[in-house]
Amino acid sequence: MMPIDLRSDTVTRPTAAMREAMLRAEVGDDVYGEDPTVIALQERVAADLGFEAALFTPSGTQANLIGLMAHCARGDEYIVGMDAHTYKFEGGGAAVLGSIQPQPIPQAADGSLPLEVVERAIKPVDPHFARTRLLALENTWHGRVLPMGYLRDAREFCDHHGLALHLDGARLYNAAVALGVPAGDIARHFDSVSVCLSKGLGAPVGSVLAGSRVLIESAKRWRKVCGGGMRQAGILAAGALHALDHHVARLADDHRRADTLARELAALGLPAQAHTNMVFVDTPVERQAALKAHLAAHGIVISTGYLPTIRLVMHLDVDDDGVARTIEAFRAFA
Ligand SMILES: *Cc1c(COP(=O)(O)O)cnc(C)c1O
Repeated sequence: MMPIDLRSDTVTRPTAAMREAMLRAEVGDDVYGEDPTVIALQERVAADLGFEAALFTPSGTQANLIGLMAHCARGDEYIVGMDAHTYKFEGGGAAVLGSIQPQPIPQAADGSLPLEVVERAIKPVDPHFARTRLLALENTWHGRVLPMGYLRDAREFCDHHGLALHLDGARLYNAAVALGVPAGDIARHFDSVSVCLSKGLGAPVGSVLAGSRVLIESAKRWRKVCGGGMRQAGILAAGALHALDHHVARLADDHRRADTLARELAALGLPAQAHTNMVFVDTPVERQAALKAHLAAHGIVISTGYLPTIRLVMHLDVDDDGVARTIEAFRAFA
């Protein structure tokens, strides 16, 4: 039996149809701007999200980094959640490589950054302080969908304070599918948006940064500086285009499976909550090693760590049978 890998939605392998599309891709040298498939992907995402331009990058980390570097110069500051990916899980790249000072603030439980707290973090114009330039949000955040009303408020707030607004939308399409709105309805509140194609959408590699033509020109320069200029990258872009054509609507299946799994685990007495494609199960750290070994013996792979919560992630390679097997394995453990 195939193992069921619940560590992340990054573990998916390209489907046969996706590999077929990649095999057939027309390619060229994308550093010269000559790869028709990369161009098609960039135009497709820009149009989908309502921006003038977009740029294909090797990773979400790089899409966020070059987005921040296009918005902020040396000595500028961006305000970001303390548990945001760009701040906490990208090696401090904005500071390390961009000379951009992060100003982290605690997220509310729904992943929003309370605007009155953000307001207090904005620095006065004075040589003592970094220049506050940008607010960065994340949607979904730990699977949670930011409320639409909050996005409108954040846009108004940034306009009022002269800040740019960036979205780490690694899982933007999960948010859009969960809300039943086009991804552009979320993206339109932002000056730039990064999207991962290699998470729930199931492409093997790649992210896209979307924004104004001027911003994307600058980001393209930083992409080259960061070593992200790729050559016949149309092979990868073809996988991404296939994912956008075939794997967006099905995210609803991942959300439904996460919901089922959380309800069944709760019925077993395990405190579990579903947020889009993720299930969070409260599990004391000292029990996690035993749980991981038990599940491994049933062909189920999870990650454990230093938090008293384990995260189980639904994706393209987990079907209804996989969810049923997971529930059975947890029942045996409980
Ligand atoms: C995965 C992820 C990224 C970065 O993507 P990589 O392609 O792994 O570099 C950025 N933000 C969030 C929220 C993510 O989950």
